[in-house]
Amino acid sequence: MTDDRVVVALDVGGTGMKCAVVRPDGVVVRAERHPTDAARGPAAVVGTILDVAEGLADKARADGLTPIAVGIAVPGVVDEARGVAVWSANVGFRDVPVRDLAVARLGLPTALGHDVRVGGLAEARLGAGRGSGHVLFVAIGTGIAAAHVVDGTAAVGAHGAAGEIGHILVRPGGPRCGCGRPGCLEAIASAAAIGRRYAELAGQSADAPVTATEVAEPPVTAAEVAEPPVTAAEVAQRAATGEPLAGQVWQEAIDALADGLASGQALFDVATIVLGGGLAQAGDGLLTPLRAAMRERMTFHREPHLVAAALGDEAGCLGAALLALDAVGVRDHQEKR
Ligand SMILES: [Zn+2]
Repeated sequence: MTDDRVVVALDVGGTGMKCAVVRPDGVVVRAERHPTDAARGPAAVVGTILDVAEGLADKARADGLTPIAVGIAVPGVVDEARGVAVWSANVGFRDVPVRDLAVARLGLPTALGHDVRVGGLAEARLGAGRGSGHVLFVAIGTGIAAAHVVDGTAAVGAHGAAGEIGHILVRPGGPRCGCGRPGCLEAIASAAAIGRRYAELAGQSADAPVTATEVAEPPVTAAEVAEPPVTAAEVAQRAATGEPLAGQVWQEAIDALADGLASGQALFDVATIVLGGGLAQAGDGLLTPLRAAMRERMTFHREPHLVAAALGDEAGCLGAALLALDAVGVRDHQEKR
């Protein structure tokens, strides 16, 4: 028997949307990318989401396929039970009932999910965490966020805000986080923070020697977070070639990450931690020292397997597809893959 069923999946980010038509076995039969253009405001962004979803459903039908559901992932705080995008600075959403709008427009069951949580879902079920019942997916990019996936389901939290591991306090009195509090993990170990810290120390050593403890931390603006003058990848490369300043900044980030992940392991006792986001592209330059730092921090807890994500930037879109399939009770197909 041939299965012509497909789902339409969208992963909506601050700059672009990754969109696909996906079969129940996880195979992508059509992929598209569209700009989000968030500056147009939330109503226009939602309009584009609905247009793109409807267009993909129409194209699937024209190909002889049958769209059975829609999955949409967005950043920020997402109330998955009500299908509401509660808050997102990147896309400008405030209490947008995305699911109901999609159901009204497309006439298909629709699931709304959080970008990192669905990315974790995809990595746990189809990617680097496959075969582990208990997975913590940690995305390290401009910010740091996590998804705790148990037996293929990601915990959402009572208010749609589970997994904010980037806001675990790791350095009391440390650099101020975008959330307003000093010392969050994200303020030290996000890709943006690493680039910023390096530039700051490099600038100071060019003027006059200043010790790390004397560094004043100015409030972080969105523009600074978005475009650090030196990227974290460059810091990782320079650290690998033995540059002392890069080595110092990289090790500070590794230590902070190990503190945060050790807290995660104390809470969740997972079998596998999957690292995704831009920083994970540093590969062994990240994984090898991070494994060692984690090992130092384990007392009676079991050390998790620490691995890099396998699905790249498609994880969110695939995860949105899994959420859509789950919403209509089509799940066994992917597990048999
Ligand atoms: Zn914070």
